Amino acid sequence: MEPAVGGRVLVPFRQQRMSGIVVGLHDREPAVATKNVFSVVDPAPVLDQQLMRLGRWIADYYLAPLGEVFRTMLPLGAEFKRTITYSITEPGQMALHLGGMSGSSARARRTPEEQLAEFRVLDYLANREEPVRELSLRSATGVSRTVLSGMVRKKWVVREDISDAREAARTIKVAVLCSKSPSDAPTAPADGATNVSARHATGNDGATGVPARRAKLNANQQALLDALTASGGRAEVEVLHALDVPRTTLQTLVKRGLVDIVAEPAEFHVSRVKARPSPFDFEFNPAQKQALQRIQDSIANRKFTGVLLHGVTGSGKTAVYLAAMRTVLESGRSAILLVPEIGLTPTVAADLHQVFGDEVAILHSALSDAERAEQWHRIKRGEARVVVGTRSAIFAPVSDLALIIVDEEQDSSYKQEETPRYHARDVAVMRAKMADAVVLLGSATPSLESYYNATKNKYALLELPDRVEQRPLPEVELIDMKQEFQETGQEQVISRKLAEEIRERLERKEQVMILLNRRGYSPVALCRTCGKTLECKNCAIAMTHHKRARKMECHYCGYTAPVPEKCGHCGSEYVYFLGTGSEKLEELLHGMFPTARIGRLDRDTVRGKEDFERALNALNEGELDLLVGTQMIAKGHDVHGVTLVGVVGADIALGLPDFRAAERTFQLLTQVAGRAGRGETPGKVVLQTYFPDHYAVQYAARHDFAGFYEKELRFRSWMHYPPYSALANVLIRSDRLEDALLWSGTIGQWFEKTRHEGVRVLGPAAAPILRLKRDFRYHFVLKSTSREKLNTLLRTMLAYAASQKIPRTQVIVDVDALWLM
Ligand SMILES: [Zn+2]
Ligand SMILES: [Zn+2]
Repeated sequence: MEPAVGGRVLVPFRQQRMSGIVVGLHDREPAVATKNVFSVVDPAPVLDQQLMRLGRWIADYYLAPLGEVFRTMLPLGAEFKRTITYSITEPGQMALHLGGMSGSSARARRTPEEQLAEFRVLDYLANREEPVRELSLRSATGVSRTVLSGMVRKKWVVREDISDAREAARTIKVAVLCSKSPSDAPTAPADGATNVSARHATGNDGATGVPARRAKLNANQQALLDALTASGGRAEVEVLHALDVPRTTLQTLVKRGLVDIVAEPAEFHVSRVKARPSPFDFEFNPAQKQALQRIQDSIANRKFTGVLLHGVTGSGKTAVYLAAMRTVLESGRSAILLVPEIGLTPTVAADLHQVFGDEVAILHSALSDAERAEQWHRIKRGEARVVVGTRSAIFAPVSDLALIIVDEEQDSSYKQEETPRYHARDVAVMRAKMADAVVLLGSATPSLESYYNATKNKYALLELPDRVEQRPLPEVELIDMKQEFQETGQEQVISRKLAEEIRERLERKEQVMILLNRRGYSPVALCRTCGKTLECKNCAIAMTHHKRARKMECHYCGYTAPVPEKCGHCGSEYVYFLGTGSEKLEELLHGMFPTARIGRLDRDTVRGKEDFERALNALNEGELDLLVGTQMIAKGHDVHGVTLVGVVGADIALGLPDFRAAERTFQLLTQVAGRAGRGETPGKVVLQTYFPDHYAVQYAARHDFAGFYEKELRFRSWMHYPPYSALANVLIRSDRLEDALLWSGTIGQWFEKTRHEGVRVLGPAAAPILRLKRDFRYHFVLKSTSREKLNTLLRTMLAYAASQKIPRTQVIVDVDALWLM
C-alpha cells in the first residue's frame, strides 16, 4: 500500500511501534539515518489538507509539537492495539546464572522480597523463546510494573511496546447470498426440487469443500439459505446463528461458495434517551428572525464571516442555532456546533436527534474510544453532516463546512489545559477562515476578547436584547454581609433577608435555587493552638472537609486523608473546621426549613451527566423545593420554575490573584441570575456579598453588560492585559524545589540579558499555588501587543532551555492562558 499525505503509518520508535501521520512525500535522499515504515494504515488521508493546515497553525500558535496536535485531532486511538512484551537480555542471563543478582546492588539497595521478585521474572523469561506479554508475565510471577521498570533500567530485560492497526470501526458480520449464475446457487425463491432432494440428503454439514455446483444441500443448509433469501439475500450472522441449525452449517455454505461473509460498520445509535415531544420553539420573535436572516445571508456568501450573537439569558439563542444549522443541511453542506461540557446532557442529545435525524453526530466525553472512532468515521464518510460536541469536535472531518457555532463562547472548558493548550473558540475562528465559512459565537456574557473584536468590527454583533415572550429580567437585591455582621453580631451564611425571602417562596409553593461556588463541608481545618491548617501533602492548598464521606480531600489533586482528631503539627486536640461549602449549606437549610425538599448539585452529588439531568428534572417536575449547588446550577439550560435565586459567597473569586476574576464573577452572577423567573412571574435574586461596591457585582445586579465591558476594558488596557496584549504564562515545575528554583533562575537570567523589544516579561515569581500535584512551580508572565514577537521570544526561550538540559516537559508554555494560578 502506498502511503498518503495525511494518512497514518506504523513506524518503529525506540523499542516501540507507534502510529504517525505522513506530513510529506518526497524521493530525495534523507540527510539523517532513517528506519523503514512498518506498514501503511490508511491508503487515503484521514486528515484532509484543510485539517493538516489547521494542525500546523495550532502547533505554531500554541508552540506545541505537531505530533501531539495531530494526536488530539484524531480520536482514533481505539484503532490500535497495544502489546507490551518483555524478553531477557544477556546481562539478565548473567544475573540469573551467577546467582549474582548483586551485580548492580551498589546503586540500589533492594529488599529480599524485591530480589526474589526479580529472580522469578528472570527465571520465567529464561525459559521462553518468544517475548512474553506483560499481562502473562505479571500474572505468572506476581510482580508489579515498578519492579519490571527497574529491571528495564538495569538492562536485564527489554520491554517492547508494539501498536497494531485493528479493524477501523466496530463492525458486524453479514452473510450475503452469492449469485454467480442462477443455476449455480439457489438464489431464486424456494425451489421445490432442491428442497426435496435436500430433505433427503443424509450427510451432515461435512466440511468437504465440495464445489457448489449441483451439490446436494441438507436440511440445515437449506433452512439457512431460505432464511437468507427471505430476508432479501442478506442477514446478520448473529441473526442466522439464532436459527435452530448448527453454527458449522454457515461455514459449510461459505466453503461451498454459496454464501459470503462480509464485515459492515455497525449501526450506531446516537441516543437511547427519548426526546421530548417538541423540544424547540421555532416561532421566532423579530430579533430572532433578524439574527437568523443575517446568519443565513452570510452563509450564502461563502466568505469568512465572524458573528457574535449576544443574547440575554432566555432569549432563544439555541433555536436560532438550530434553524441556521437546518439551512446548512438543506443546502447540502456541513455545520459544527460546539457546546461546553455540561451543556451536552443526554436529553439535549436526544432532542438534537429529533431535529436532525441520522444526519447528526454527537461527540461527548461519555463516549468510549470505540464509539468516538465510529462517530468520526460516520462524519468522514459524509453520513453525518451536522456535528454537535464538546471542545475537540472542532476537528470533526466534515467536508464543505459552512457554519461553526460556539455556544457559551466564554466558557473556560473550551481551553484545553494540557498540551496542545488550544482554545477551541479560537481554533473555530481559524478553521472558518480556512474554509470560507461563518463562525457564530453565542453568549449571554461574551468574553472580553470576543466583545472587543465585535466593537472593532472584526465580528458582526447581533443582539437578542429581550427574553422570549417579553419575560422581564429578575430584580436583584444586594445584601452587604459586612453590615449584616455588624447588625447581628455574628458571621452569617444566610442573611436575614435571604431567609425571609426563602420562607415566603416555600409558603407559596415556589422554588428556590441557592448558589455557593464551593463544594464540601468546610474548606479549612485549622489548629487553634498552633494556627496551622491541614494542607494537602502534594499541594500547597488547604484540604476540604467532606463530612458525609468522612474524609479530607484536596480539590486540586484529589488526594484524600482521614479527618484529623489532633493537629498534625503540634498534637493539639483543638482542630476547628472553618467556612462553609455546599454540603454544609444544605445541612444548614435543612435545619432552617425542616419540611422543605432540598437537593444538592455539585461534583460530589453528580457523578455522570445523568445525575445532573436527574437533579434538574426533579426541580422541573416539582419534586424539589430548594436546590443548592456550585456553578453547575448556573449552567443548566432547562431550568424555568425558580422564582428566587440566592447567591451566597458569590465573590469568592474576587479575592483570587487573577486578572480575569472580575470577568468570571460578572459572568457567573449573570448566568445564575438568568435562572430566576417563571413564565409571567418575574424572578428575584438576592445577592450576598462582602464587596457590594465592586463593579463586577454592581453591573451584574443592574444587568448592565455594556457598562461592565466598558469599565473592564479600560482596566485591561491600563494593565496591558488581553484583549490589548497577547499573553503567555510560562511555568517551570519540578518535584524537587532545587530544580524548580535553578531552572526558573536560569531562564530568568536569560530573559534579562536577551533583547526582547516589545515584550514585557514579569518573573520569575512563585506561582500563586506554589506547589501543585507534587510539583514546585515558578512562573513568568509575558505580554506583548505583537503576537509574532511574543511567539518568537517563546521559541528562542524553549531552544535555550533545551540547550541548558531543562527537560521540555517541565517547561509549560501556555499561550492565551486562562488561569495564572
Ligand atoms: Zn497545631
Ligand atoms: Zn493536592
